[in-house]
Formats: sequence, C-alpha cells, structure tokens
Amino acid sequence: MSDTPGDGKLELKQASKEVKESENVAEKYSAMTVSKNSEITMGELSVSSAAFSVVPIHKPVKKQIQFVEDKQEFSRFPTKAGRRSLSRSISQSSTDSYSSAASYTDSSDDETSPRDKTQLNSKGTSDFCVKNIKQAEFGRREIEIAEQDMSALISLRKRAQGEKPLAGAKIVGCTHITAQTAVLIETLVALGAQCRWTACNIYSTQNEVAAALSEIGVAVFAWKGESEDDFWWCIDKCVNMEGWQPNMILDDGGDLTHWVYKKYPNVFKKIRGIVEESVTGVHRLYQLSKAGKLCVPAMNVNDSVTKQKFDNLYCCRESILDGLKRTTDVMFGGKQVVVCGYGEVGKGCTAALKAMGSIVYVTEIDPICALQACMDGFRVVKLNEVIRQVDVIITCTGNKNVVTRDQLDRMKNGSIVCNMGHSNTEIDVASLRTPELTWERVRSQVDHVIWPDGKRVILLAEGRLLNLSCSTVPTFVLSITATTQALALIELYNAPEGRYKQDVYLLPKKMDEYVASLHLPTFDAHLTELSDEQAKYLGLNKNGPFKPNYYRY
Ligand code: NAD
Repeated sequence: MSDTPGDGKLELKQASKEVKESENVAEKYSAMTVSKNSEITMGELSVSSAAFSVVPIHKPVKKQIQFVEDKQEFSRFPTKAGRRSLSRSISQSSTDSYSSAASYTDSSDDETSPRDKTQLNSKGTSDFCVKNIKQAEFGRREIEIAEQDMSALISLRKRAQGEKPLAGAKIVGCTHITAQTAVLIETLVALGAQCRWTACNIYSTQNEVAAALSEIGVAVFAWKGESEDDFWWCIDKCVNMEGWQPNMILDDGGDLTHWVYKKYPNVFKKIRGIVEESVTGVHRLYQLSKAGKLCVPAMNVNDSVTKQKFDNLYCCRESILDGLKRTTDVMFGGKQVVVCGYGEVGKGCTAALKAMGSIVYVTEIDPICALQACMDGFRVVKLNEVIRQVDVIITCTGNKNVVTRDQLDRMKNGSIVCNMGHSNTEIDVASLRTPELTWERVRSQVDHVIWPDGKRVILLAEGRLLNLSCSTVPTFVLSITATTQALALIELYNAPEGRYKQDVYLLPKKMDEYVASLHLPTFDAHLTELSDEQAKYLGLNKNGPFKPNYYRY
C-alpha cells in the first residue's frame, strides 16, 4: 500500500501524461453539452473525443478477452429448409449470451411466424416484423418502468437533445431487445438518429417491447423464439433496405458486423464506426484487426471499467439467487455450493450465496484469483474433492468442460448444476444425452437428468446462462452499459476524420468516470472534490481522469 506519491512515481507520471492528453479540451467547457465537435462535458466533468484517440488497445485487451471457443459461421444465408429449425450454427452469443428478461407475454398462443403476417402500426407503416404489433401498449408500459431506473440515459437524452449529436446517424443495431434496450434506442432517436434493430439472441426478445418500438417507427425485426433462418433474415432486413444505408453499427456478439462484412462489404464505405458490447464480438473484432480486415474504427465497450466491473459483478450478485430460486424453490441457507471461477461473475455469485448462509467453495486455475477467494473467506478446492458432497455447482469461467460427465456421474441425488458464464460450453451437457440417462422436463428451463439407479441431477437452462435465461437482471446495471454504448456511438459518429484509425479502441478512463458520475445522483452520492493543493500533490487534474489506464479497481 502506498499513500505517498513518492512510492508510486511511475503510476503518477503516467497518470499526469493521460491528464495532459485531454486537458486542453476539458477546460473549454463548464456545462454539459454534446456538440458536433464531439466534446462531451458536464459540470466539472468534460470529455473530448480528442482524449479518445490515443488508445488502440491490441495487447492489454487481448489479455482480458475470454477465449470463448467461437466457431464463426457467418456464411450461412437463409434457406427455406432451415426456416423453423433451431440454431446450431448461429454464433454462441446469439443463443447463449445475455438473454435478459424473458418476455412477459406468452407467445405460444399464436404459432404463425411473424414473417407470414402483414402488420401495420397505427401510422399505417409496415417496415418492421414483430410477433404482434397489438402488444405495443403493454410494451410501452414496460419501457416506462425501465426508464425509472435508467435516469442517466434520460438525463443524457435531455441534456443533449438540443444539440442532436446523432443527427444524420443511421444506426443498425443487433442487441437483446428488452425494455432496457428500448430506452437506449429511444435515447439514440431523441439525439437525432434513425435506427433499425434486430435481436442478437433468438430467445431474449421481449415481444411487447419490440411491438412498442415498431409502433413509434423504429424498424424492429425480432421476436422471441426465432429459428436460425429467421435470425439471419431479420439481420438482413435491417441492413438491406432500399434507399437507406447504415453509417453506424451497434453490435452485441458480432453477428451483424460479420453479416455486413460477408454480404454487403460496400456498406462499410459509409460506416463511421462499430460499437461492440460483448466479449465474443470484441474477440472477433480483434481477429479482423489482426488479419488487417477491419476497415472502420471500432469501440470495445465490453472492456470499459463501467461495463466489466458493474455488469459482470453486480449484475450476477443481484441475479444469481433469483435464477436459482425461480427454477428450484430450494433453500440455500446451509447448502454446500461450489462456484467454479473467481473472476467478476464468480465474485458476485459467491457474495450472494455467502450472504444467504450457504457454505461456499471456489475452484480456480489462477493463483491470484484463488488467493482473493481465500482472503474473502472461501475454501479453494479442486472440483473432484467436493463433487460427492456439494448440493449445487455454478460455473462462471468462460471456459469449456469445467464440469465433465465423469463428475456429473459422481454428484449426489438432488444436486443442482448450472452455468453463469457466456456460453453453454462450461458444463458438458452433450455428454448427458446418452441412452441410459432419462431427461424429464419438470418446468420451463428445469430438467431432471435421471441415472439408472434413480439418482436425479437438476440441470438448469440446459447449461446456458442461468440469470439471463431464467430470471431478469437489474435495469440499473444495464443503464450503465447502455450509457457507455450511447456515448461511444456519439463519439465515433462525431469524430473528425483521422482521429480513429481502422482499429479497436477503448473508451478512455475519463469517459468511464463520466458514465459513473451520471449514475451517482441515483444514490444521492456526493463526490469529494480535490483541492488545488491536493490535485497538485497527486499530479491529477481536478476534473479527472482520477486513475491511470492500468489501474485495476
Ligand atoms: P473473468 O475472466 O473475470 O473470470 C473467469 C475466471 O474463471 C478467471 O479467474 C479464470 O482464472 C477462471 N477459470 C478459467 N477456467 C477455469 C477452470 N477450468 N476452473 C476454474 N476456474 C477457471 O470473467 P468474468 O467477468 O467473471 O466472466 C465469466 C463469464 O461470465 C464469461 O463467460 C462472461 O462472458 C460471463 N458473464 C456473464 C454475465 C451474466 O450476467 N451471467 C455477466 C457478465 C459476464
């Protein structure tokens, strides 16, 4: 620990260098504006895109990326044969990523594919394809509820509305279509953008929300339970519109980006930038960049501090118990739980379970994370050491085959196994589909796998992300990520030519700090201001950034 500047010379030197990079613009503004020149300021906080231009981030970010095994199958174009089949070839993110908030409307009452229906909104337009446009009013209420916990976006909307920093922006988006995303989309529209939107996950669309967006004129192509063919058809409908060409991409998982690359490469002549949220999508962007094929600048939102340290940790801390309880009704006090992986997600899950009175074990491959787990009061074990005694296994590694068939064979009767990581690769679910085991679907997303001796193991969400498949996630956390996405779009769209090269960029620390500051009023949190003397002592600008890029939080 070092409290004195003398102990951290290198850090401070670097910190002050970063400050200088943004200082010149930061001082120009005193009230929050988002101008066409791309300076974004609020009170003492001011951020310029000039400060953005300095961080192409090959090496550091590569390290943070999850090496999700990600077979990219972008060459699959819609075929009639595939039309109603479930995906095996959509990217993992589209079937397994954060499919937040199962739709509250039951879509099973109408089996007609939305592609076979002609629907009009109340203004008489039909440039959308959703389950049922009549659900729009219900969806509007869902959006209004989400708005209550997304005040940062609403305030960004109000503050920047006069300037319309996205005037002329034609954004094509591929994300989960939930009430929270709708608040983001409507913010982009309020700031001047035209939007066409599709879903990045075939299960996660809230049908009523898709209807509400279509009702106000956003061209949405998405519904819950799309087939693989529908998935690509919807992406294509968003991009391929006569008389309309996108100039910005907002992606979650990289499928949209790659569809454009494969099918409409000329569109990239007009694209000013790509904003990507997910680990998987960012990984793909780096692959493109490495191969020299990235032809526009891209912003990696996933590795922003305000995404990674909030979405991954707090979202999981808040939602793990929700997912477990909605599916199993089990009491977790006193239960023995093993959490595999003590990264951000694992830390969130263990904290929630510990607070509930569970006896929590951790498995780790990394000695640093293992030591953190020890010092947080958890027993670090090998899975095999506890496999026969634990009641619950939760995987949070982003890895594959963390729980094998052999281990599942040794679990005790009535034990629960589930996954909180991105992909359905962590538990070897495929190995359970053998003739001697019986599968019994006892509830939606809950399977009992029964061994010949009668032993049952309870598998949740078929090994997909538990919280996002079986519960909802807190709106407030999504607000933080959505605000980062909005700012990244504004920045890329307004950046003068040459500021960003054909590379992948991180939002600078100052922008992260700004996103956090927008969320502080919710808690009536009051920041302490540096005095001139203190700022000088620490070598900081009074308005931030307050930490160097390598600071780990
Ligand atoms: P992280 O890299 O911080 O943590 C993963 C940890 O797992 C690391 O510490 C790593 O050492 C450990 N690990 C890897 N292989 C292991 C193995 N075989 N056994 C034990 N430990 C192992 O990543 P994170 O931010 O915690 O994210 C983990 C996963 O959760 C990712 O797939 C991420 O995309 C996903 N995620 C889920 C949610 C959600 O809401 N469910 C939110 C954010 C991220």
